[in-house]
Amino acid sequence: MTSLIESPERRALRSAVAALAARYGRDYFAAAVREGTHADELWAEAGKLGYLGVALPEAYGGGGAGIAELALVLEELGTAGCPLLMMVVSPAICGTVIARFGTDAQKSAWLPGLAAGTTRMAFGITEPDAGSNSHRLTTTARRDGTDWILTGRKVFISGVDVADATLVVGRTEDARSGRLKPCLFVVGRDTPGFTRRLIPMDVSSPEKQFELVLDAVRLPADALVGDEDAGLLQLFAGLNPERVMTAAFAIGMGRYAVARAVAYARTRRVWDEPIGAHQAVAHPLAQSHIELELARLMMYKAADLYDAGDDAGAGEAANMAKYAAAEAAVRAVDHAVHTLGGNGLSTEFGLASLITAARVARVAPVSREMILNYVSHQTLGLPKSY
Ligand SMILES: Cc1cc2nc3c(=O)[nH]c(=O)nc-3n(C[C@H](O)[C@H](O)[C@H](O)COP(=O)(O)OP(=O)(O)OC[C@H]3O[C@@H](n4cnc5c(N)ncnc54)[C@H](O)[C@@H]3O)c2cc1C
Repeated sequence: MTSLIESPERRALRSAVAALAARYGRDYFAAAVREGTHADELWAEAGKLGYLGVALPEAYGGGGAGIAELALVLEELGTAGCPLLMMVVSPAICGTVIARFGTDAQKSAWLPGLAAGTTRMAFGITEPDAGSNSHRLTTTARRDGTDWILTGRKVFISGVDVADATLVVGRTEDARSGRLKPCLFVVGRDTPGFTRRLIPMDVSSPEKQFELVLDAVRLPADALVGDEDAGLLQLFAGLNPERVMTAAFAIGMGRYAVARAVAYARTRRVWDEPIGAHQAVAHPLAQSHIELELARLMMYKAADLYDAGDDAGAGEAANMAKYAAAEAAVRAVDHAVHTLGGNGLSTEFGLASLITAARVARVAPVSREMILNYVSHQTLGLPKSY
């Protein structure tokens, strides 16, 4: 358990990850985006050093720590300008779901690779006609003997091209009631009937987004992760780490932006003093620093509740942390870009590309409005409009 003061172990992990990330830095990451590569060297080294698998069980090659430690890793990589979006998906969602609900065979098959970073897994829930309303998912699994036949479409699924498999959220047809229930399936990248199309995005990131078509994809019985009757519970077990990790992604990016702006404001002179001496320049950066620190406290609260096994408590805190971190990051990037004046929009200084990247955290994996809805209804008990 954590307190509000970071433990010596977490501080040590933070500085070790920061040292790794500093060896790569923003130039490396920007080159990966420019050249269409995937920051594979950083991913591989982070995996080898045990950072990607820090939250996975030791019995399967992980570090045996928690989502709090994994979030800290992503935050530090982002602070150095290298936010690895696939960390949100591969070790955090997919690794967690398999570690908690997979069979021994599934754990042995996937967890060592996910922990070491030698295997990557994407996560597909969003659908064109469902979006924020996951109750409307239509990707459907039906049984054919012992096999499953999966049919449907997904959009905006990150990293499918580099992932060995995708954890796809479908629904089984309930034979008795005719209702549909969510279920999680591991779909290998080259499974017949499973195709992908790149969605061009104005987001500067090595991870690309894809539309997926599942055209009667035949899967063996053991592609189903967990219990087909407890799918919702299992899904939420993966979505809480996803929100915590999105908060870490946003906080790291916000810290990076503020640091760049502060360095610039200390030295840039157009009058006698550096521009950072003007409170109109300094205060927004100070405000962003405070907001990011506050968001981190909430991120740790959510992660610690989750790591302590309190899924319900973690749900509310993870939503709040994701909200606070995304809003803080969007504002931090905006202030940072403005601090650099014209240079804020130049390719050379590289801050403008963060404008869209920070906004990803506002809309995904659950939008700002859906979190406000959640808090309105679940926390405050206000009535629903939809
Ligand atoms: C870069 C990127 C990467 C992504 N990666 C993945 C991934 O790996 N896997 C995956 O499954 N998905 C992924 N997504 C999808 C993401 O989770 C969705 O975009 C998000 O859930 C919102 O769904 P939507 O885009 O369909 O928006 P919609 O649901 O259509 O919402 C549009 C707007 O309407 C608002 N809105 C909707 N309903 C309400 C309501 N009831 N009250 C108030 N406002 C409302 C929303 O807040 C939003 O502003 C990614 C998205 C992006 C941009």
